[in-house]
Amino acid sequence: MMSSSLTSVAYLGATILFILSLGGLSNPETSRRGNLYGMIGMTIAVLATVFGPRVTMDGLPWIIGAMVVGGSIGLFAARKVQMTQMPELVALMHSLVGLAACLVGFANYIDPIAALNLSSAEKAIHEIEIYVGILIGAVTFAGSLIAFGKLSGKIGGKPLLLPGRHFLNLIGLLVVIAFGYQFLHAETIDAGMFALTVMTVIALLFGIHMVMAIGGADMPVVVSMLNSYSGWAAAATGFMLNNDLLIVTGALVGSSGAILSYIMCRAMNRNFISVIAGGFGTGGGSPAKAGGEAQPAGEVVAISAAETAELLRDAKNVIIVPGYGMAVAQAQHAVNEITQVLREKGVNVRFGIHPVAGRMPGHMNVLLAEAKVPYDIVMEMDEINADFPDTDVSIVIGANDIVNPAAQEDPTSPIAGMPVLEVWKAKTSIVMKRSMASGYAGIENPLFYKENNRMLFGDAKKMLDEVLVALKA
Ligand code: NDP
Repeated sequence: MMSSSLTSVAYLGATILFILSLGGLSNPETSRRGNLYGMIGMTIAVLATVFGPRVTMDGLPWIIGAMVVGGSIGLFAARKVQMTQMPELVALMHSLVGLAACLVGFANYIDPIAALNLSSAEKAIHEIEIYVGILIGAVTFAGSLIAFGKLSGKIGGKPLLLPGRHFLNLIGLLVVIAFGYQFLHAETIDAGMFALTVMTVIALLFGIHMVMAIGGADMPVVVSMLNSYSGWAAAATGFMLNNDLLIVTGALVGSSGAILSYIMCRAMNRNFISVIAGGFGTGGGSPAKAGGEAQPAGEVVAISAAETAELLRDAKNVIIVPGYGMAVAQAQHAVNEITQVLREKGVNVRFGIHPVAGRMPGHMNVLLAEAKVPYDIVMEMDEINADFPDTDVSIVIGANDIVNPAAQEDPTSPIAGMPVLEVWKAKTSIVMKRSMASGYAGIENPLFYKENNRMLFGDAKKMLDEVLVALKA
């Protein structure tokens, strides 16, 4: 067993490693190192906690048993999950953090030892920690489960807009405050448990309502926001358990998630404050759905793999825009091979990455890094958007919403105002996808009908393999 001072030193080391880890993850070239720091930090944190002064010998078998069961489930899930299901897995993990915060809160409240030797002021603070912790935990738990449902397609992307929903939320908040008051003044554990349970039910309903009300196009912000909430839930658990490391780690996740939410908001041209309040997506994802009168004018022209190869061979500048379909088709290795062949022929090939491409932040960067595409040709949207007019061919691989010109041209579009990659400004744009189906936001894409656009229909991996064969011929 470790002494408490040794545990403190271990916690300090783990904290530093977590900060280094976050720093590393901010850049693709240092991200592997960042991950390693995080893994070492977490190992130290778990060992220092399990063998620390607050765990008795009797408790050890329980903890180790739980770790074996939890670890096995985690290992199995992580091995089994497809890359395209990663965002859903992450949403599910966030829900577990919320659930843990709730369970720890209830356990802490009914634990007679936790409140022993506390002055009345300390007891009030402890109870506020419990109340707020369970509140954040329940919102995170329910919201993340709904996000999981939406990301996996089990729940439709359309926003559920209850009549007077802001009013309902306000009533919920007032009830939560009123029961909070009752909870703090409860004479018995039973009376406190009643207030706590009512609040938990309201918080669960609020979490469900908040995410259900959000339209498909706004999901990236929700995903990063729930990431942030899960951090705050963990920090609240840290306060309940008096565990400094959990407080710091939770705050790191909470604040980095908040920064990510801000970045996602900017990428979607959304207002951060209204996102935090959960009251958004009303105007955006709502009924002004394209497809009715706003049917794009023009003709859809298909192209073959051989013709695509021809265009690429003659090009000097090429920009590749990957999207969710590249992840589905697992086409990143084929993309890399084509990039290599073209670069050997002296073609300037670069990638344009939209901040919300795919289904999670950094989705495309992860895939391209896995396929060993050189980092220096992978550009962010802002860095490359101005270059499309000087580009001969832009190739869109399984992307849709992020290259939709309706965001700029149609003020009634659910994604109106969202910055997009302006692929149609290239001399020729080629869109690689299987059909005319819409993307995640469920809206028509006028790009497909533009005069200089060509459609290469088929599975991205299969089509890219054909293009590669034609290029090498
Ligand atoms: P989209 O979902 O807009 O479009 C993907 C396209 O890929 C589809 O239209 C589909 O067309 C095509 N596709 C699917 N499978 C294949 C395949 N095997 N081969 C070729 N094409 C395929 O993706 P984008 O990346 O353009 O945009 C991301 C969307 O996801 C945005 O709306 C964003 O808001 C949302 N989102 C993003 C999150 C994030 O954090 N990044 C989180 C949650 C949502 P077809 O069926 O015809 O093949």
